[in-house]
Amino acid sequence: MRRPFPSGDLSAIDPFLLLDEMGPVEYAPGKAVGAPDHPHRGFETVTYLLAGEIEHRDSNGGFGVITPGAVQWMTAGAGIVHSELPTNQMMRLGGRMHGFQLWVNLRAASKMIPPRYQGYEAYDIPSRELDGGGTLRVIAGEVDGLNGIVDTTSPVTFAHVSLRAGESIDWRVADGHTALVHPFVNGVVVNGLEADEGHMVVCDRESGSVTVTAGERECEVLLLGGEPLNEPIARYGPFVMNTREEITRAFEDYEAGRLGSIVATGPGTNRN
Ligand code: MN
Repeated sequence: MRRPFPSGDLSAIDPFLLLDEMGPVEYAPGKAVGAPDHPHRGFETVTYLLAGEIEHRDSNGGFGVITPGAVQWMTAGAGIVHSELPTNQMMRLGGRMHGFQLWVNLRAASKMIPPRYQGYEAYDIPSRELDGGGTLRVIAGEVDGLNGIVDTTSPVTFAHVSLRAGESIDWRVADGHTALVHPFVNGVVVNGLEADEGHMVVCDRESGSVTVTAGERECEVLLLGGEPLNEPIARYGPFVMNTREEITRAFEDYEAGRLGSIVATGPGTNRN
């Protein structure tokens, strides 16, 4: 697993709190792993899968199997308990797993909104072939005139770009917004700066336009953009609030069962 942030001095890149790249990994039969029931409050978790199958359940009655190319955008808001586990089939047979989890912060005024879940299949995600033969998929926000499908709580862009060797894409970023480029298949050049595979680029907030160019090999990148919230962050484990007191309250509420629990309903099989 790669974790571009938080790591070292980089605790968060407002409004983003965490980016994990899961895999790519080839699980042997019986060896696939996931995250059983756990709570969240105060932010959103975004799961975007490229290979494998993850079964999601939550205390709000949400259920879904995330398949390659699909996205799940979960607003934990006031609180939710969920599980993120390989499907029973994947547990049994093993196989390739590759994907991302992004945590997006919620502003203070939105931290206690009701939880919700937006799930979209691969075919739901707006995509377009680029002039140079690559592909643009926009999950949230807008890139190169293509609008994403997810309804975000604050302005956030999340896109997956595949570029042929030497091909470029220009990404216009709103003034003052955060812009991150994460190359996960081969390296890229971002505004003239070379970045190796796995080395996320944090762009200058005043750069306006971000040009991403593949080198001599095709490449794949995530583009992550967003309006900074500029609010204090208190984070502990699965909770991200503005103050220590709110974190303490979150633990109390979770331990008292006020974030709910998962009721095993629906067609899934991995809770048998
Ligand atoms: Mn989680």
